[in-house]
Amino acid sequence: MKDIPNSTEARDIKNLMHPYTNARKLETEGPLVIESGEGIYVTDNNGNRYLEAMSGLWSAGLGFSEKRLVAAATRQMEKLPFYHIFSMRSHGPAVDLAEKLVNLAPVPMSKAFFTNSGSEANDTAVKMLWYRAHALGTPEKKKVISRLRGYHGVTVVAASMTGLPYNHTSFGLPLPGFLHTGSPHYWRDAEPGESEADFVARRARELEELILAEGPETIAAFIGEPVNGGGGVIVPPQGYWQAIQAVLDKYDILLIADEVICGFGRTGNMFGTETFGMKPDMMTLSKQITSSYQPFSALLVNERVFAPIADESNRIGTFGHGYTGGGHPVGAAVALETLRIIEEDKLLDHVGDVGAHMQAGLAALTGHPLVGEHRGVGLIAALELVTDKETKAGLDKPGALGGIAAAKMQANGVISRNMNDALAFCPPMIITHAEVDDMLARTKRSLDETA
Ligand code: PLP
Repeated sequence: MKDIPNSTEARDIKNLMHPYTNARKLETEGPLVIESGEGIYVTDNNGNRYLEAMSGLWSAGLGFSEKRLVAAATRQMEKLPFYHIFSMRSHGPAVDLAEKLVNLAPVPMSKAFFTNSGSEANDTAVKMLWYRAHALGTPEKKKVISRLRGYHGVTVVAASMTGLPYNHTSFGLPLPGFLHTGSPHYWRDAEPGESEADFVARRARELEELILAEGPETIAAFIGEPVNGGGGVIVPPQGYWQAIQAVLDKYDILLIADEVICGFGRTGNMFGTETFGMKPDMMTLSKQITSSYQPFSALLVNERVFAPIADESNRIGTFGHGYTGGGHPVGAAVALETLRIIEEDKLLDHVGDVGAHMQAGLAALTGHPLVGEHRGVGLIAALELVTDKETKAGLDKPGALGGIAAAKMQANGVISRNMNDALAFCPPMIITHAEVDDMLARTKRSLDETA
């Protein structure tokens, strides 16, 4: 198709620069053009239908044809298509959503602040921390600790907190003041013979050593995803978050839960924070908040964060931060409708049920010669692919095996995604048992063809 003049593929190559893409490879291979969506499926411009096992980008939780979201957007477009909430202006959808989110929060939260993407939410969290540090008269308390393999987005600050090489190499990142500690990836990072409990204790010890080396008085916060998605769906071992929390509490360091993937049902509870017993001071939210039908994100902040910022804004005259589209009325209306649907359709119960079915089916695939590990919770999972189960090795180049498997999946009608050799599964939360069975059968076939 890409060689046909004026085809979408040819015009794409000519004009469109893609995020997260090898630009030269795109020129030779051309893009996959998705044209329409229905339920958990999307269809390309050649009429091929794919089961979207990643919900797009871990995000279209209600699938690709939820009419109630379209209706909510249309109603709001007709009533008030845009207004902002800068400098004491307001509108109903922003107020209703802020109230809803504050009430839904699993730990006491004071306020919601609205942004447009996961990256912006995380960037904003850091700017709030810096502003707060000045407000409290401790301007040196500004460093942020995140984790290797963690993913927090791509703006300059969010990319600095991300712990993946692609986001740093050739960008000259991370910025100074952004530190990384080890990932809770037990299967990959545990030392020989180390128990899960010992591994957790080691990670907590390493965090404490880093804090002491830097000086606790210089560290503002620790950020982490309840389940790390972009690093390969890393589900922390039992007790991990409690051990991390104990270290943070000891040195008066705040916790930011990056709920951009986990939020709104993905792990079987409304928030990953609940699933893992975390006690964050700030939560960043996006993706499933609108099922990605509108770009939208939010932060929830507790009183420890809000009160000093409010006082400082009073001293200076304003909190000098905010985005034109933050709290957009159409996005807010779609988010409210998404939350209503999650509750009314009892999707958390459904994720518990259908998620257990998916996890059992993926666990059964660990018998396959290429599957080194299955890990997952709720409706998010990964199969870690290896060529040698003993050494946990893949092909020569990390990610090559995962790449082949993901291509086979696509040929078999399933869009999955490999993070290195971890093949991820994060289907829309509306997926049925029968659709899970179909996805598993196609996955098995794809693995057989990869072997
Ligand atoms: N945080 C997490 C956990 C994510 O998975 C992502 C995106 O995948 C982001 C932040 C960044 O979100 P966005 O791409 O909307 O900037």
